[in-house]
Amino acid sequence: MNTNTEEEISCRICRDETGPLVNPCMCAGSIAYVHNPCLEKWVQTRNSTMCEVCKVEYCRASSELRPINEWRAPTPLSSSIDDTIDFYCTILWVVFMIRTVYVTITSGLGAVPLMVGQVLGNGTVYLLWWTSFWLNFLYYGIISILLAERWLTLNTRFVFTNRLNELNHSINASLSPRLKTARAHSMTKSLSNLVKIQ
Ligand SMILES: [Zn+2]
Ligand SMILES: [Zn+2]
Repeated sequence: MNTNTEEEISCRICRDETGPLVNPCMCAGSIAYVHNPCLEKWVQTRNSTMCEVCKVEYCRASSELRPINEWRAPTPLSSSIDDTIDFYCTILWVVFMIRTVYVTITSGLGAVPLMVGQVLGNGTVYLLWWTSFWLNFLYYGIISILLAERWLTLNTRFVFTNRLNELNHSINASLSPRLKTARAHSMTKSLSNLVKIQ
């Protein structure tokens, strides 16, 4: 009745059957297995390490940042026109904010309001300028956090592993040493029985 072991396994992304495959989430059947490089590319495109089918985090053996000389440049959140415009506006906003913070640190808290006041006066335009400053601060602040998160994922090297292996590993680690010895004994016993039979 064991039909699963007879089933040919292939990568859920490229459908290729060669190369090492892992089963990093709870998915089973034809979408259970995947190549590490295929899943890494998928995770970086989606900017998520959670399987969208079974809603479980892909099991990772490790995930670490690439060496700085291998880093790729930041990219927009998606290829849509809106996200591309947001991406370039956020870069300009970050440059503007670095300049604002620099002026504040070197010339004091009142320096920026004074400079704005000298150009716009102290009337309605001045108030409108500050309102738009804080609205932009909220909007581009959030976008820049999202972009930074995506940039880090893009430059992380993921090594995925089988969820089942990790489960066994954690069960083993939680067993007491006495239980482990008992387990090892019973394994040796069954092995010697097997040799005797042969
Ligand atoms: Zn693949
Ligand atoms: Zn899954």
